[in-house]
Amino acid sequence: MSHLSPLLKQSSKVCVKNGEGSWLYDTSGNQYLDFTAGIGVTSTGHCHPTVVKAAQEQVGNIIHAQYTTVTHEPMLKLTDRLVEKMPKGLDSVAFSNSGSEAVEMAMRLARQATGRANILTFHGGFHGRTMAAASMTTSGTKVRTGFHPMMAGVVTSPFPHLYRYGWDEDTATEFCLKELDEILKTHSAPSDTAAMIIEPVQGEYGYYPAPKAFLEGVAQRCKDHGILFIADEIQAGYGRTGRFWSHQHAGVHPDIIVTAKGLASGFPLSAIAASEKLMSKGLPGSQGGTYGANAVACAAALATLDVVDNEKLVENAAARGEQLYRRLDAFRQGTAWIDDLRGKGLMLGMEIAHSPDRPRADIAERLAAEAEKRGLLLLRCGTAGQIIRWLPPLVVTEEEVDDAADRFNRVLEAVTAELQ
Ligand code: PMP
Repeated sequence: MSHLSPLLKQSSKVCVKNGEGSWLYDTSGNQYLDFTAGIGVTSTGHCHPTVVKAAQEQVGNIIHAQYTTVTHEPMLKLTDRLVEKMPKGLDSVAFSNSGSEAVEMAMRLARQATGRANILTFHGGFHGRTMAAASMTTSGTKVRTGFHPMMAGVVTSPFPHLYRYGWDEDTATEFCLKELDEILKTHSAPSDTAAMIIEPVQGEYGYYPAPKAFLEGVAQRCKDHGILFIADEIQAGYGRTGRFWSHQHAGVHPDIIVTAKGLASGFPLSAIAASEKLMSKGLPGSQGGTYGANAVACAAALATLDVVDNEKLVENAAARGEQLYRRLDAFRQGTAWIDDLRGKGLMLGMEIAHSPDRPRADIAERLAAEAEKRGLLLLRCGTAGQIIRWLPPLVVTEEEVDDAADRFNRVLEAVTAELQ
């Protein structure tokens, strides 16, 4: 029996030996087309040779050059390269290890810089599992149950979940912006609100892109009231949606960007970026930690950016995303219990339900298990686990997308036959 804690719930039975590109190989010699990409982390694919080489070389130079004791070249170079990718004016970068920690860095900065206490979040957002990040998370009770009371000072406003509301984009956007205005009048006055944090494409709750007009409305209200606009780009950023940052689809301008996952191809690294002016309003020494900006992780992140640029992965995410959407949409049209397909680029969610009120997590579970048997790894999300999510690495090829769709077609046939 394994001594691994049962609390780390496994979504597959696969024990991995090695990986290459979009493929994983298990200890029994089976191969899997990996459309989970380590929950959206391995954007450059598994063990991309450029990333492997950079990390191997760095291990021989310096592994841990503690970043508030000394600086090191990979980190300094990475700040320059990241700033090139940031919207104009976000010219200062701070590092941490995980997404949750970076979310907390952003929150700490927002509170210190504004002198205001409250953080406004949007319903369904996922921002992490540590206490402050979990307090900002409303994608499901899973990260909260048994963990209450949560941190004070978090206020949640509705997010236009078109499918769940059953409304068109304009109606849902208008409703949610009205509610946001009402919350600023009734719950958290602008003078008490430090920041609004949003995933421009919601991940864990169910791959809901925020309509452009909604993001514009949120950004405008932040600007009007001196509230900081934080974009949590941890899952949707770094090229996944077909733009480098997912908020760029709406043309809005965040004050703070939070990034992790795709940043270092699997090495633990996260970052926030803001203007130097804003960063300088935080308290010196209040951010940091033992392991942030690990030299090997930073070297891997530099190599990751080389791969993203040289192999045009953002463009590939857009093109392969369209191809994948077309293939999956045909399944949606032909299957009664695939009730919705949504997302952007290589971040697509397939709602397994008869209607928003009648989710079929049981079928979604069967689909994922059957896919695993047929060499295709898929993850689920949503409050009941009723959504199959599609998030392959950004290096995925046209053939691999077709291969995955063909395998899923056979999975659908098998599960449909079972249900009859
Ligand atoms: N924000 C978003 C949007 C995420 O998707 C995640 C991870 N799924 C996090 C924050 C938390 O990141 P981590 O698990 O690295 O703490």
